[in-house]
Amino acid sequence: MDWQAEDLKYIWHPCSQMKDYETLPPIVIERGEGINLYDINGKCYKDVVSSWWCNLLGHCNPRITKALKEQSEKLEHVIFANFTHKPAVTLCQKLVKYLPEGLCKFNFADNGSSSIEMALKMSFQYHYQTGNPQKKRFMALSDGYHGETIGALSVGALDLYAEIYKPILLEVNRIKAPDCFRCPYGKCRDNCQCECIEQAQKMFEHCGEETAALIIEPLLQGSAGMRVYPPLYIKKLRELCDKYNVHLIADEIATGYGRTGKMFACDWAEVSPDIMCLSKGLTGGYMPMAVAITTQKIFDAFYDDYLKGKAFMHSHTYAGNPLACACANAVLDIFDTDKVLDTLPAGNALFHKIVSEKFLSNKNVGEVRHIGFINAIELVKDKRTKEPLDSNLRTGYQIYKKALEKGLILRPLGDVLYFNPPLIITEEDMHTVVNMAYESMVEILGA
Ligand SMILES: *Cc1c(COP(=O)(O)O)cnc(C)c1O
Repeated sequence: MDWQAEDLKYIWHPCSQMKDYETLPPIVIERGEGINLYDINGKCYKDVVSSWWCNLLGHCNPRITKALKEQSEKLEHVIFANFTHKPAVTLCQKLVKYLPEGLCKFNFADNGSSSIEMALKMSFQYHYQTGNPQKKRFMALSDGYHGETIGALSVGALDLYAEIYKPILLEVNRIKAPDCFRCPYGKCRDNCQCECIEQAQKMFEHCGEETAALIIEPLLQGSAGMRVYPPLYIKKLRELCDKYNVHLIADEIATGYGRTGKMFACDWAEVSPDIMCLSKGLTGGYMPMAVAITTQKIFDAFYDDYLKGKAFMHSHTYAGNPLACACANAVLDIFDTDKVLDTLPAGNALFHKIVSEKFLSNKNVGEVRHIGFINAIELVKDKRTKEPLDSNLRTGYQIYKKALEKGLILRPLGDVLYFNPPLIITEEDMHTVVNMAYESMVEILGA
């Protein structure tokens, strides 16, 4: 069977110009182990993008697989309104120990975007039911990404995904996000006082009163090109939110579960959001699941006699799916028994050292920024002026294709190369993947 041809006959792949598949047909993956994926011809690919940032502890991790298997022999799914099950309750008990203070009420969804929709609706309804019906707008950062359903796309800011849909999206008040690589205040990430917060201050003064919530990707704007900004900025946003009675929604879908070196990115700022969205790493990349977790205070605004009509009437068929919960529990068991978070600082530092030593001196590398295991290499035309490459050349995509030939899944964001490997990557693999990526880059751009 020609699996590639059969695929192209039927399947419309996500986030792809399908014409590109004429020259680069889909790679048919048969199995995975650790950070490796193997295609039907036995060729190995190193997965340093964690299969869209969700694989946390390696492919086919035996402990998660076992938990999934055992759960599937007991209960695969049950309606979650008026019914519950041990895996869901256990998950909340385990997760609450890791969460920023005050987050204690869990609402389940089956993908990240849906959890964002929940967070937005929940925030609006909270204000509506607590005497502030004028609070019906949202604030978000420029260059943000929060998913691709209509609400999530509205608060996101990337034209690549949103431009065409603007006529049907919500209007959002957009705060200019920190841009630490090309800082307009002439500062650098390690020694600034987040002077750029004035952009947010102005926005709060202008429309804080009519705003229900501000949504952010804490510390790391992933899809924007792995842009890293300082924890102090989040602290200052938290203060503004408190002053104007605006909820802070932390979209930790990509940053949660140790990706930034701590359990959550908010932990770096010691900030508790009013609502936190999790997905991706939540099940270790095994099952689609998300949660929007909130405070007792928000929960209480919905708690009343049925006929008052205050309930949160939001549901997803697969909410609280037991198989997904079982995987999520296995992930947290591994975090506990293997002390995963304690192992991160050393591994994170080592990986950054390896990446910097290899890439930093290259003539087209503008910056190597990092947080946790995430290392991003911003390619530029001119190192001194930071002038970007001509995006029409699709340099990142050319490098991606070279890397694939070598057996590395790199998938750059525009002209930003990045690594976001599973947390279990070994030192040997760190060297291997960095060398492969560097050679791919040099073959396109020169040494
Ligand atoms: C992936 C992602 C989402 C969307 O999650 P989906 O499961 O793809 O809908 C939202 N926000 C961030 C920060 C993400 O990385």
